[in-house]
Amino acid sequence: MSLTVVGSIAFDAVKTPFGSRERMLGGSAVHFALAASFFDQVHVVGPVGEDFGEDEHAVLQARGIDTSDIEHVEGGRTFFWRGEYGWDLNDRTTLDTQLNVFADFEPKLSEASRSSDVVFLANIQPDLQRAVREQCTAARFVALDSMNLWIETARDSLMETISAVDGVMLNDSELRELTREPNLIRAARHLKARGPSVVVAKQGEYGAAMLTDEGFFSLPAFPLESVVDPTGAGDCFAGGFMGYVAAHPDAELGHDVLTRAMAYGTTLASFNVEEFGVERLVRLTKEEISERVADLHRVTHFDEQPLALRG
Ligand code: AMP
Repeated sequence: MSLTVVGSIAFDAVKTPFGSRERMLGGSAVHFALAASFFDQVHVVGPVGEDFGEDEHAVLQARGIDTSDIEHVEGGRTFFWRGEYGWDLNDRTTLDTQLNVFADFEPKLSEASRSSDVVFLANIQPDLQRAVREQCTAARFVALDSMNLWIETARDSLMETISAVDGVMLNDSELRELTREPNLIRAARHLKARGPSVVVAKQGEYGAAMLTDEGFFSLPAFPLESVVDPTGAGDCFAGGFMGYVAAHPDAELGHDVLTRAMAYGTTLASFNVEEFGVERLVRLTKEEISERVADLHRVTHFDEQPLALRG
C-alpha cells in the first residue's frame, strides 16, 4: 500500500526566540512526507522551481520517498514562506507568502500516486487539493489540512473540498474561524455534518482533540523541555496520524485505531519541534519513535480507581 501527499514544497525563512534560518527546506508536503515515511511508501505531488535542486531531492529520497511527481517548472521559483514566533510559540506571524510555481499549478498524478490507499491534502490552495482528491479514486481514507489564509480567501472552495474527504485536521483557531463556532466540539460536529467522519483540532503545545462517529478523544502534547521551532509540527502530526492509518490497511478505522494514530501523530510532531525545519526529522530513527510512543503512553495513561466521594 502507499500514501500520497499534495501540499507546499517550500523554502522557509523562520525566526524564533531561539535562533533563525534564512532559507531552509520546508513546506507542508515535505514535513508530512518525512514523518509518514516511517510507516509506508510516500509519493509527493507538487511543483518546484529551478532553485530546487539535487540536495533537496536527496533529503526526501534518503527516507525512500518517491519524488517523481515533483514537477520542475522551467524558469519558476519554489514556494517561499517567512514566519516569526514570539515567546508564545503557539502564536506565529506570517511575514511573507510567495506562491510562485503554485500560482499556475495543475496537478497531474502518475498511476502510482493516483492509486494510493491513503491520501493527504496538506495545506495548499483548496482548488488544488480538490484536483488531487478527484484523481485519487482508489483511496480508502483521505484527509486535509488548511490555514487561515485559505479560510479567508477561498472559504467556499475549502468547504467544497471538506465535503469530499474523510478527515479534517485544523488548528483549533482555524476550526473556530472556519465554522464561526467558538466551541470546539460543536465546531467539529459542524464539519462532520458536511461529510468527514473524523475531525481533529490541533492545539499546539496543548496537544490535539478528535471527534469521530464514536466519540471524543483528547491527547496532550509530549512534555518536552526544549522547543526550538514549531514550523511543520501540524504536518508531522498529520504524517504520523495518516502513516499509522496507512500501516493498518485491513483495520476498520474505528475510534481505537484513530486514537493510536493520534499518539503517533503527537510523537512525530514532538520530534519535529526540537530543531529548526526538518533538521530533527532527517536524523530521526524508528527506535526513537517507538521509545517515545511508549513514554507518551506512560505519561498519559492513568489507572482509574473508583473512589467513594463525600455526598
Ligand atoms: P505548519 O507549521 O504545520 O502549519 O506548517 C508550516 C509549513 O507550511 C511551512 O513549512 C510553510 O512552508 C508552509 N506554509 C506556510 N504558509 C502556507 C500556505 N499559505 N500554503 C501552503 N503552505 C504554507
